[in-house]
Amino acid sequence: MDAKRVIADLRELAARTGTADGAQRLAWGPVWREAREWFRGKVDELGLTVRRDAAGNDWVTLPGVSTRTVIVGSHLDSVPNGGWLDGALGVMAALEALRMHASSKPPVTLTLVDWADEEGARFGRSLLGSAAAAASLRIDDVRELQDRQGTRLVDALTENGVALERMLDAHRELKTIDARAYLELHIEQGPVLESMNKPTGVVLGTFGVERHMLRFVGQAAHSGSTPIPMRRDAFLAAAQTALACREIAVRHSKPGPGNNVVCTVGVVNVEPKIVTAVPGVCEMSLDQRALDARVLATMLDEAREAAQRAAQENNVRVEWRNVWRIEPRPFDRTLIELCEAAVREETGDAPRLPSGPLHDAAEMVPHMPVVMMFTYSSNGLSHCKEEDTPEPHLEKSIRAYLRLVQKTMDYVAHL
Ligand SMILES: [Zn+2]
Repeated sequence: MDAKRVIADLRELAARTGTADGAQRLAWGPVWREAREWFRGKVDELGLTVRRDAAGNDWVTLPGVSTRTVIVGSHLDSVPNGGWLDGALGVMAALEALRMHASSKPPVTLTLVDWADEEGARFGRSLLGSAAAAASLRIDDVRELQDRQGTRLVDALTENGVALERMLDAHRELKTIDARAYLELHIEQGPVLESMNKPTGVVLGTFGVERHMLRFVGQAAHSGSTPIPMRRDAFLAAAQTALACREIAVRHSKPGPGNNVVCTVGVVNVEPKIVTAVPGVCEMSLDQRALDARVLATMLDEAREAAQRAAQENNVRVEWRNVWRIEPRPFDRTLIELCEAAVREETGDAPRLPSGPLHDAAEMVPHMPVVMMFTYSSNGLSHCKEEDTPEPHLEKSIRAYLRLVQKTMDYVAHL
């Protein structure tokens, strides 16, 4: 295995498809297409071919003795001014796994995937290609999407040879693969591994999310003439709720990997927004995340009770509107163990952590055993040109990932 070659490939890709401001591989655009063409050249060198599915995902198959398949990959697209490792690391490490086995017929089939439009940076829909392959994409939800220039998604897809109405055919193509494992290496995009000073971590799954808008309705009134006990202050009800939700999250965060939960109030709007008026209306967002579905459900119940209590205390009412939710996607126990063994052999330790961000891997969870491996993010930064991993850490992560691929292939061969 050659981790240095993977890093050299990544640097070459960054030089070809980035500027001083970072990676510019925006999905469905010319630089992204160029990146994929460059990648196709690398695949050609191995005597293998790239096959594009109905959703624009690129697949490379190295047939093994058995049709049982281990899938490796990630995404080549980036956000505008993105990092050099987000997505690209997983694809280039997967390519190295193919290289390691391309000269002989491996015991099981090894298939690489480069998912299309993971970022959703242009049209606002993340995981577009993998969701189509997973059949969780609803075409009606994306049919009308446009980018900031007014270009329609359907036209951008057509430009890339993808027919919107036929994207879900990618699911039928996925089903033809005898998939026994999906393995993705990705940069953490957060500060956890750095805080532990560990180069590589085992990912337990992706957080479930409950995202709501709460609207507290009281009565706007003059700030000078209305005595405090007589007020119906919608902001104070929201503020009490925000503090209570933080307490709920703190209480449900237990020591140990995968047991931390988070909750965020990221938006607060008051009306009438006048320094001399008691706020009559306050709208706030609440985003709760946990890896355990029961914990997440309990956190939501408790948040509802807390909001109700705060509303009563301030003589206002509260309405809830669900904005978005996704269930937690825990990864496969056996693959987590293999991942742990691979990381430990390479780095001496195997910290476990959940993933806050969603990844293409989450879309594969209902369809096959999945695990992800994270590499260290310098300063916890991602989606920016500063995104980086110290080179010795990066090498260790790549080697740990290639070990994981090997271990998984051995395991799948003996199923
Ligand atoms: Zn990514």
